[in-house]
Amino acid sequence: MVRTGLTASCLPFKMPPVGILRWGRGFAMQRDRITDDIYVFTSDFYAQVNAGVVLASEGVAVIDTLPFPEETQEIVRLVKALAEGRPVYLILTHYHTDHTLGACLFPQAVVIAHALCRQRLETHGEQALQQARAQDPSFAALTLRLPDVVVEEGDLLLRLGNKTLHLFHAPGHSPDGLAVYVREDRILFTGDVMMPIPYIVDGDVDQTIATLQRIRDLPVETIVPGHGDPILRGEAPDVIQGHINYLTAIVREVRRHIQQKKPREALREIDVESCGIPRIALNGLAPQLHQRNLLALYQRLSGETSPSRKGRVAKTTTTARSSSKSA
Ligand SMILES: [Zn+2]
Repeated sequence: MVRTGLTASCLPFKMPPVGILRWGRGFAMQRDRITDDIYVFTSDFYAQVNAGVVLASEGVAVIDTLPFPEETQEIVRLVKALAEGRPVYLILTHYHTDHTLGACLFPQAVVIAHALCRQRLETHGEQALQQARAQDPSFAALTLRLPDVVVEEGDLLLRLGNKTLHLFHAPGHSPDGLAVYVREDRILFTGDVMMPIPYIVDGDVDQTIATLQRIRDLPVETIVPGHGDPILRGEAPDVIQGHINYLTAIVREVRRHIQQKKPREALREIDVESCGIPRIALNGLAPQLHQRNLLALYQRLSGETSPSRKGRVAKTTTTARSSSKSA
């Protein structure tokens, strides 16, 4: 497994340094079959990103793409081999590059995402693609693929014969998060609102906690997070509570620092493990992501919030109303 640096984390539009990519080439794709007809693919090149494939009687759903084209091509090959003429849907859990750059490799698919995901891809996607191309020639052939169908308000049920995919807004890691719950199998793909350490630099603590609480109420057999190992039913309550505890702890600690008028440099004193997340989480990236979380919180809680963030409404979708529109 290749370990990447902090700038290679799931920040939007950042890719690992080329040298790391080259070193990583040649690894076999990690593919797990978690039920008879649900697969999980995990990136060997970049921060254990997960993507999924759900084979249903009347369609095939792909959930996210992987960071690098050759990784996503493995998913394309599986889908081609098994789809047998069924329609293909590609669901994007959020707009970050590590989950969306391969969308153009599914030209026949109907691409579904949250409306905010499409918005962000429209405004930033081309620049992100150019940055990726500048770092590695394997991105040269990729083009920006925008979602065809967006979930703007409420939830969306995608009925594919013997399987029902319940898509619901799952903001927190980013405002546009979309989770996918396969009802018949009780498998939940969360996107990055769940990963080995909560990461809210492009998101919001309260929204993350609200989404985690919603997830906690779902009957699940397996949770597939945006990054890292799947979480089994028996582990899920503790993992979710652990994430809520972590977020509560970092808010408390940062508030204390601000009240004590400590400089931002003193945030380094707040250790990740003292907030409940092992430092080895996500292949050892946890301490770095933790520090970024602290800094982002410090900026927001001390009033250094950027103007664009001030106007954002914190709202978590909880209704069962279906609403989608063609974009
Ligand atoms: Zn990610």
